[in-house]
Amino acid sequence: MSYVDEVLERVIAKNPAEPEFHQAVKEVLNSLRPVIEANEEKYRKEALLERLTEPDRQFKFRVPWVDDNGQVQVNTGYRVQFNNSIGPYKGGLRLHPSVNLGIIKFLGFEQIFKNSLTSLPIGGGKGGSDFDPKGKSDREVMAFCQSFMTELCKYIGADTDVPAGDIGTGAREIGYMFGQYKKIRGVYEGVLTGKGLSYGGSLVRTEATGYGLLYLTEEMLKCNGHEMKDKVICVSGSGNVAIYATQKAHQLGAKVVTVSDSTGWVYDPEGIDVALLKEVKEVKRARLTEYAAARPSAEYHEGRGVWTVKCDVALPCATQNELLLEDAKELVANGCIAVAEGANMPTTLDATEYLQQNKVLFAPGKAANAGGVATSALEMSQNSERLSWSFEEVDSKLKNIMVNIFHNLDDAAKRYGKEGDYVAGANIAGFEKVAEAMIAQGVC
Ligand code: NDP
Repeated sequence: MSYVDEVLERVIAKNPAEPEFHQAVKEVLNSLRPVIEANEEKYRKEALLERLTEPDRQFKFRVPWVDDNGQVQVNTGYRVQFNNSIGPYKGGLRLHPSVNLGIIKFLGFEQIFKNSLTSLPIGGGKGGSDFDPKGKSDREVMAFCQSFMTELCKYIGADTDVPAGDIGTGAREIGYMFGQYKKIRGVYEGVLTGKGLSYGGSLVRTEATGYGLLYLTEEMLKCNGHEMKDKVICVSGSGNVAIYATQKAHQLGAKVVTVSDSTGWVYDPEGIDVALLKEVKEVKRARLTEYAAARPSAEYHEGRGVWTVKCDVALPCATQNELLLEDAKELVANGCIAVAEGANMPTTLDATEYLQQNKVLFAPGKAANAGGVATSALEMSQNSERLSWSFEEVDSKLKNIMVNIFHNLDDAAKRYGKEGDYVAGANIAGFEKVAEAMIAQGVC
């Protein structure tokens, strides 16, 4: 049996009931086969893949807090510190009822390669809780965040592990967590990114993932003889990534005609009105029905359906496994030329294969959405320097990083005879640097 197959079997046996983690490891290791096979003896002796698929450590803890009725509630908190061979652990905190250890491990594993691809010195980690901030008062969210950080603060630090936002964790939650960290640890340091501008945050961090997605997609289109201007785009999600992807797409001359949330989706042939979407989602924290009610050109539909709309480019920006094989077939039949993942692992493995077989340009999330973590690393640099850079400076660094990421993965794919396979290219380019650092640092 090949080394890759042996490790895949072992990962599944050792981590039962963690399907998302299995899926992420399978996707990465399968596409690394040419690299692993070329170095099989060395990597086997080093047990490199066994070490890479086993987190450095993982924390699971109780998060008790009191709701507005005086009732004690209990959630579970997680932090998985996966790999710090190229820098301190870095990765977001997801607050969503679906969160469990397997989901955090899949996200932390992917984060290793994503962070490596940015070319910045950051390792891979991820955390979160099954707490749902939706429908909670500000005081309840604060109570949860303080309790969560009371435990988490023992394991993180500006040079150790620097969490950030993710689904359900925005500026409000980061603020409450930062305040509690400072209070307990008594140090003012860049321990979290995605902070408010008044206390060490970076300009462009809010926009970074969505903007970065568009910078990379534009470069991918350009290198394949297309341009962004006048493209019709379907976006899913209506959170941080989706909103700023839509904004940048419009700035680049394309037209986004859909957005969605967990209950339904909107088709707006005139192009999504970003100011209205921000008002509904960022200010009122309301459903998309409110967008449709305020916008005569928009149609609201219950349930799933974004990928049935004819488009040139699809940008899944909501959550994992939201673009299925049947959706991929629909996109191909409708003439879609490119899919770039704003969310983490939104496309199932069979859907990805179908898109690639049908010559749809496909940019995987670990490359396409790396703009968020890259700008988080720029926030860390500014915190260390005790300086703040201008919007233009950060935005231009972000653009350079995304363009470089595309060329790195394009080159890596070509080096292994997989031209145009950006999934393989991203995994190979991300892996090579981490593998080299792990081997150089000995058995640890
Ligand atoms: P937000 O919480 O801001 O938005 C998430 C969006 O996805 C919301 O519209 C939400 O709808 C929708 N959604 C969430 N879960 C589901 C579900 N199960 N089914 C359908 N829709 C769902 O999160 P972000 O925009 O920050 O993150 C989106 C994705 O991007 C995630 O995969 C995240 O890991 C990834 N990502 C985010 C980065 C960032 O900087 N924010 C960086 C890199 C990756 P509703 O409002 O109804 O819940």
